[in-house]
Amino acid sequence: MIRLFVPDPLAAGAPIAPGPEASRYLIAVMRLAIGSEIQLFNGRDGEWRATVVEADKRRCRLTVGSLIRPQETGPDLTLVVALVKRGRLETIVEKAAELGAARVQPVLTRRTNADRANVDRLQAIAIEAAEQTGRMDPPRILEPVKLAKLLDGWEAGRRLMFCDETGGPPALDALAGKGGGPWAILIGPEGGFDPEEIARLRGMEAVLPVSLGPRILRADTAAISAMTLWQAAVGDWTGRG
Ligand code: SAM
Repeated sequence: MIRLFVPDPLAAGAPIAPGPEASRYLIAVMRLAIGSEIQLFNGRDGEWRATVVEADKRRCRLTVGSLIRPQETGPDLTLVVALVKRGRLETIVEKAAELGAARVQPVLTRRTNADRANVDRLQAIAIEAAEQTGRMDPPRILEPVKLAKLLDGWEAGRRLMFCDETGGPPALDALAGKGGGPWAILIGPEGGFDPEEIARLRGMEAVLPVSLGPRILRADTAAISAMTLWQAAVGDWTGRG
């Protein structure tokens, strides 16, 4: 059944009027008609059945039926990623949604060679990926910030798995025995981290430097690998908690 993210509050009997793009998708592309059922979620109120009550290609209307599943949230994992070329950043965001990150924080580092991100487009990519994964909490895409500023205000209690291409203990060894709770993963830019950034990161108590193996990975491969290892070691792939 089609799953659609909507921003509206969801409760039995609530009327929902998807925007023009979603209406076109439901009625013109997926050929839904009056009486068709879909699933709705909004990241807050759980997952609900809804029925098409007006099949207009530009502005269809739905009525919310019964609750399918109450709201669930995944692990408290932030993917902190240096801005990289648009296509790679979009892949990283899509995979972060599939791999269960709660938010993606783009950062500007000393060697970052891109200076902006289309956050609205990245958010739309994250929502679309969440729709197909079955998750109820699409990751939030945050506005880019400077890495130095982010580290200045680093949240107490949040651990940071720093993927350091210059070396470190293998990620799975470093994560062994570590618990869940708030975590972040840091992936650098195409030019890697500058030595001062590495020194600063390695000096922080919250930081766990890790290696992702003997080969230098592109940022998108590194992000996917790091999230996979983290999920398998301390995240919701462990079957614990
Ligand atoms: N400094 C590298 C260079 O230009 O040769 C490239 C950096 S790599 C493309 C981008 C980021 O992916 C790195 O900053 C790091 O966070 C992560 N990364 C790539 N390979 C890694 C590895 N083997 N171990 C840990 N992190 C890695």
